[in-house]
Amino acid sequence: MKVTSTTRVLTLLGDPVAHSASPELQNAAFAAAGVDGVYVAVRCAPDDLVGFMRGLARAGGGGNVTLPHKEKAASILDIRSEAVRRTGACNTFWGDDEGRVHGDNTDVEGFRRALETFLEGPTAGIRVLLLGAGGAARAALAALVADRAGEILLYNRSQERARAVSRRIGGPKVRVVPIARELEGEDFDLVVNATRLGLAPGDPSPVDFRKLNRAGAAMDLVYGRHTTGFVQAAEAAGIRATDGMDMLIQQGAVSFERWWGHVAPVEAMREAVAERQTG
Ligand code: NDP
Repeated sequence: MKVTSTTRVLTLLGDPVAHSASPELQNAAFAAAGVDGVYVAVRCAPDDLVGFMRGLARAGGGGNVTLPHKEKAASILDIRSEAVRRTGACNTFWGDDEGRVHGDNTDVEGFRRALETFLEGPTAGIRVLLLGAGGAARAALAALVADRAGEILLYNRSQERARAVSRRIGGPKVRVVPIARELEGEDFDLVVNATRLGLAPGDPSPVDFRKLNRAGAAMDLVYGRHTTGFVQAAEAAGIRATDGMDMLIQQGAVSFERWWGHVAPVEAMREAVAERQTG
């Protein structure tokens, strides 16, 4: 695709951004779909976020927002999706003809789609252990609650943060577990890692699977070129496990849909990510 004066500019705004797979993912999707767009990553300070978002959206562009700006981005929007209202975070924005900035949190739908593929069955009624209380955990919790998981135990290093997340997104099916010891001997259909542990090769697993009575499946939201500690620990305990790569692809696919108004070429996105992993 030739970049010209009519090409739409989509950006990833965050700090850091250099590690992100989104430019490869989205540019491969734009090429496969034949849309006139280019996607670039821009390291952005908190004070510059509002200028970038408003300017880009008004110029017909948009983009993604990543760490540490997702919450601030939600406050900048004129029109918020249900997922933004529920989670208080925005990872995707675009403009309309009246100069308004729209935003969504596609991590919610990305998590949901990735989980559906991984579980090969319904989320309704399952018992889940969710580890973490940051942005990724909020997206996962919103999806699990919406899809009527039977019970969700939420555990985070800082208990207060888990309580705040549970107050905002939870409901009668969500219970905060104050100390890890209380998880011993418990049964779960699914364990989800939404902490940052695993980003660095050599990070330990945030949970000791041997201390649980049963874990049916294990889903890490973290991804990298290495196998994460969580996935390693789950597989060593004989538990089916996956990392966050499919969620990354799926949230990117939903962002593509918001910008271009049609279904994303997911296979091309998958290939671009696979190439990056081996390249
Ligand atoms: P946040 O910074 O918002 O949250 C970090 C979480 O990790 C908190 O719960 C924090 O606990 C916990 N944590 C950090 N260090 C430790 C530690 N040493 N021991 C135990 N817990 C720890 O990050 P995000 O929620 O945005 O991202 C979390 C991960 O999810 C990242 O690796 C990110 O790349 C990934 N992610 C993947 C996506 C995908 O598409 N696959 C989408 C979004 C995120 P505390 O509150 O106690 O500090």
